[in-house]
Amino acid sequence: MNPNSLNSTPSANRIHIGFFGRRNSGKSSLLNAFTGQEVAIVSAQAGTTTDPVSKAMEVKGLGPTLLIDTAGFDDEGQLGAQRVQKTEAMAQRVDVALILVAAPRLVPFKAQDLDLERQWAAKFAAQKTPVLWVISQSDSVEPEPLRENLAAFKEELGGAPLPVSLVDPQSIAALRQRVAQLNLGGQEASILGDLVSSGDCVLLVMPQDIQAPQGRLILPQVQTIRELLDRRCLVMATTFDQLPQSLKALAAPPQLIVTDSQVFDKVYKLKPAASRLTSFSVLFANYKGDLAYYLAGAEELERLTPQARILIAECCTHVPLQEDIGRVQLPRLLRQRLGEGIRLETVSGADFPEDLRPYDLIIQCGGCMFNRQHVLSRLERARQQGVPMSNYGVIIAKLKGILPFIALPH
Ligand code: SF4
Repeated sequence: MNPNSLNSTPSANRIHIGFFGRRNSGKSSLLNAFTGQEVAIVSAQAGTTTDPVSKAMEVKGLGPTLLIDTAGFDDEGQLGAQRVQKTEAMAQRVDVALILVAAPRLVPFKAQDLDLERQWAAKFAAQKTPVLWVISQSDSVEPEPLRENLAAFKEELGGAPLPVSLVDPQSIAALRQRVAQLNLGGQEASILGDLVSSGDCVLLVMPQDIQAPQGRLILPQVQTIRELLDRRCLVMATTFDQLPQSLKALAAPPQLIVTDSQVFDKVYKLKPAASRLTSFSVLFANYKGDLAYYLAGAEELERLTPQARILIAECCTHVPLQEDIGRVQLPRLLRQRLGEGIRLETVSGADFPEDLRPYDLIIQCGGCMFNRQHVLSRLERARQQGVPMSNYGVIIAKLKGILPFIALPH
């Protein structure tokens, strides 16, 4: 593989740009024009895009992106309803939503004709996803009434609608620029935050056990190593059984130890007093989510009863392994703390219930395979429904009694 290939950027680190709108609003054509490639199938027949289509590519001014074409949100019938569900699932993942309205629907302008678009804009607002209103096919109506009606549109729906036309490349460039101005890449700040400085020695404890994938490191480990190198830290990696030897090999204790959460308490017992300790999962709780909310969620453990109902959300879909952290280790620790009567449910991949109110606590994995907005949309749903949420690393540290002694990134 070419290491310089831009396509090697993991999907989770790409800006997710979603194209939403009714059937035949021009989503697929606009996506193709946006990329300058034939990515999505375009047809005059309404409903050509059935499942979401995504394309990873570098877009000038934006960096690595994932462009997502979706089925029309006005789709009908039983199959149509399933397609709308997939569009809804995709809506939770995007960093920005382009909502398309075909220009002929604005001339004449009737606000009630845009109720569906308004509902979708409200969904995005609820999960704090920025929306750009795009008036597609702007060359297909008379310019003057369109200009007048854009003002009425702005008043009714807010935001400044951007007219685009496939025969006007400048309008497509203006759309790219509008997306770039949102500075979405700036959200992905730092994994280690203020925990390290240039020249620090950082020891990574990474058990290469049955749960580790064959022949490679997992994404949080790779990304953490990369950031440490970029920040000019000295990086040493070891397995847990080699930890005492590794510490002996160093002239001074490392400033920071980052461990896999499953050996959190064991590493804590062995670590030199001068070394601060955190876990990959805690780092990703901050990088991909909201650490403060996760910490507050962990404190809820004190109030849970032996009948508590807890949802464990794991972003990967895999066959559960022996000693699987989400399906075996975490449930065991929770039962030890709260009793055998607790009700535990696990969801994986993109599955995540709409109604979270039946749960007393949600425990989310590090979410390294998801983009940040996807994890944040889950957090926002939990927050709005008043349900506490925490994360694997934070909750394991709490259950092991070491949370107050863990180094937290800011
Ligand atoms: S389960 Fe979650 S934290 Fe673990 S590798 Fe998958 S996305 Fe990352």
